[in-house]
Amino acid sequence: MSVIEKLQERSNTTCELCTSKTNLKQYTIPPSLNESVDNSLLVCGSCLDQIEGNAEMDANHWRCLNDSMWSEFVAVQIMAWRMLQRLRNEGWPKDLLDMMYLDDEALALARATGEHEDEANKIIHRDINGVILEAGDSVVLVKDLKVKGSSMVAKQGTAVRNIRLDHENAEYIEGKVDGQQIVIITKYVKKT
Ligand SMILES: [Zn+2]
Repeated sequence: MSVIEKLQERSNTTCELCTSKTNLKQYTIPPSLNESVDNSLLVCGSCLDQIEGNAEMDANHWRCLNDSMWSEFVAVQIMAWRMLQRLRNEGWPKDLLDMMYLDDEALALARATGEHEDEANKIIHRDINGVILEAGDSVVLVKDLKVKGSSMVAKQGTAVRNIRLDHENAEYIEGKVDGQQIVIITKYVKKT
């Protein structure tokens, strides 16, 4: 049986968040690397559009979480938690969150996409021009940089592909220069 067939079976072919039967799709919780029935759920088009930010959040629609947050399936609990976090300024979602229990592993996954963080506190990496940097981007150095702990100097104009972000600090990214993984300060790079 495929993942979606297993989801259809366990949910009785209804949206596992709001019980709608319209336009059902498999949703695998980001940032999962592979899809399985344990990290996926069946959602309707209306839920999916709001989850993915393609439609405005309709707080009333999500009253359904009042029930679905008690699902026995961890994937459903995690998505209920994430959507309640997005809506927490409405008041009632916060009360539901207070009642909710996720074990440590589920909570860590639930938090992975930062839904619980305020926009202002999210760590956002920006280049010298204020352009947002994402993992996998390519940048070019805008000045010569001494590499800490070595005699190497990374020259201005050096292209660095496939950068990684320091998730603790918005000022740092990492990338390979001359085959060596180095830490680079974001204000000295330009996204290409
Ligand atoms: Zn739904």
